[in-house]
Amino acid sequence: IGGSSDTQTDLVGQISPSVAGLIVNKPVNNYRSIIHEAESLTMMGDAPSRNMNPKKTPVADEYRITGTVLGLGINGKVIECFSKKTGGKCALKILRDVPKARREVDLHWRASGCRHIVRVIDVFENHYGGQRCLLVIMECMEGGELFSRIQERADSAFTEREAAEIISEVAKAIQHLHSMNIAHRDLKPENLLYSKKSRDGIMKLTDFGFAKEINSFKSLQTPCYTPYYVAPEVLGPEKYDKSCDMWSLGVIMYILLCGYPPFYSNHGAAISPGMKKRIRNGQYEFPNPEWNRVSKEAKDLIRGLLKTVPEERLTISEVMNNKWIANYTHVPQTPLMSARILQEEGDAWVDVQEEMTNALATMRVDYDMCAIKNLEDTNNPILKKRKKKSNPIEEAMEIR
Ligand code: ADP
Repeated sequence: IGGSSDTQTDLVGQISPSVAGLIVNKPVNNYRSIIHEAESLTMMGDAPSRNMNPKKTPVADEYRITGTVLGLGINGKVIECFSKKTGGKCALKILRDVPKARREVDLHWRASGCRHIVRVIDVFENHYGGQRCLLVIMECMEGGELFSRIQERADSAFTEREAAEIISEVAKAIQHLHSMNIAHRDLKPENLLYSKKSRDGIMKLTDFGFAKEINSFKSLQTPCYTPYYVAPEVLGPEKYDKSCDMWSLGVIMYILLCGYPPFYSNHGAAISPGMKKRIRNGQYEFPNPEWNRVSKEAKDLIRGLLKTVPEERLTISEVMNNKWIANYTHVPQTPLMSARILQEEGDAWVDVQEEMTNALATMRVDYDMCAIKNLEDTNNPILKKRKKKSNPIEEAMEIR
């Protein structure tokens, strides 16, 4: 790691051997040209309008990288580092520079302007062992994961009002993303981190590994899809991706209010066929005693978020206008059983995480298929004519 694009400075000795092990030998591509084309059209909300422009200088010029691993992810480790200029603690995520990583870092960078999204401070493009890598410097989230924090509070009552405040913060992060036409698509408990351990820590969303930009300017400009005569359902697939985040919000809200998920597999198998069926049929309950004092408003909001048909699910603007969210300071301070249940059922938490990860993966695939199917089924005559000339699947993929 380190070095400019021309020279290679081997800094592995200064980092840790395990960091070096994060980078796998695969061909390197240049994808600089494929990003940001749609930015002027898709940038809305309070996001900074800045392009991701990775620095080519060695990361070690500006940051001191330690051997401390902050967390493990599917794409590698997140490591503690310090800014040489300010001395401030940061987190470094190293990704092999492939198109998927470019997309992840680019979307995360652009979404960084929200109080409830982990801030990307710097991005470096360095060479290591002939491989180009993206090194993402983020603010260090020292307060740990959302549910660990609640679990640790098992002795002092966690209330419905506090749950409403947390959900309204997650909703703000989603609103920011959806207003930029970005769907996160991997909104799950372990991606909600606190900036500090102390009470003034801020909860933020991270991990843009599955984030997706929808209806970019480029896709609308292709000769086949001039917006004037495109059927709404062709432009509509964005609702599937966004509704994935709304479902996640419903599941997170449910767990916050009672300490266990709405859907779970019967035999400990992560996402069993039975569980898939229950998710698809919307088979969940609000069992007592955990739910008997929870407000009707909260239950109604969950019902709106866990609707099985994505089109019927609440959108983020509907959620922002919902009284339980907009007026969370007036939500009753009913003590909840969630903290105690999370503590007592601590061993089952790994399964809960795995089940949500798998359910989201299934949903992403299902919704991608839905969007393609919609395009094939459309009755727009001009589109039909166009479709004869080219491969519809390719076109469907192009508008997404
Ligand atoms: P992946 O996309 O590979 O799953 P993540 O971005 O989710 O990786 O990061 C993996 C883990 O690293 C997280 O679960 C968390 O524990 C830790 N982590 C990620 N970002 C930060 C951060 N900014 N500060 C502190 N720890 C972090």
